[in-house]
Amino acid sequence: MTTTSFSSLPLAPAILANLDSLGYTDMTPIQAESLPLILEGRDLIAQAKTGSGKTATFGLGILHKLAAADFGTQALVLCPTRELADQVAGELRRLARFAGNIKTLTLTGGSPIRPQVESLEHGAHIVVGTPGRLIDHIDRGSIDLTKLQTLVLDEADRMVDMGFMEDAIRIVSACPPKRQTLLFSATYAEDIRKASARFMRNPAEVKVESLV
Ligand code: ADP
Ligand code: MG
Repeated sequence: MTTTSFSSLPLAPAILANLDSLGYTDMTPIQAESLPLILEGRDLIAQAKTGSGKTATFGLGILHKLAAADFGTQALVLCPTRELADQVAGELRRLARFAGNIKTLTLTGGSPIRPQVESLEHGAHIVVGTPGRLIDHIDRGSIDLTKLQTLVLDEADRMVDMGFMEDAIRIVSACPPKRQTLLFSATYAEDIRKASARFMRNPAEVKVESLV
């Protein structure tokens, strides 16, 4: 029988204790299939329906590698909308409790850019943002991606539907080539898979079929 306990993963004791305190006792199927590959450092394309726990899947991958003492941006999560970016940032902050003093910053449109630039000057370990605003920051040179280790494209199917794929590719191109890239979606889209070949390194693929 495959174990679905988070404690079977090589995660730091503080992270495991926090998962317990959040009431996350067992991994969801997408977490159980993806996390061993992610923790090995593989690039990954993962597909599972909405509500299946994809955020913690990449969130734990990010936290596993994160150095709290280094205030450079080590992880970037791309989301199609501001609401999704806020949700993801909220979940990442919950997961990062007790993992050290981890700063998660959201960079989305609709908020003034100046305070975002100032927050970036102070440093953020994890940045969660929407494509348009991230490109603004890349163009002004306000975001330094040289320390980036993990790049996540969340809701990639919606990103394609909303016409963001070219923007996403521009952002990917601004990231260091030596990084781990993780792509998540709720539905299968052949064009995502095709596009991802341009920026992923021999990705593993995990798909959890919906039972409903
Ligand atoms: P998705 O991105 O796949 O739509 P989310 O990451 O938003 O799903 O997760 C859906 C809900 O499940 C969230 O409220 C999250 O806190 C919760 N959740 C995630 N993983 C677990 C787990 N292993 N055990 C219990 N709840 C979990
Ligand atoms: Mg999600």
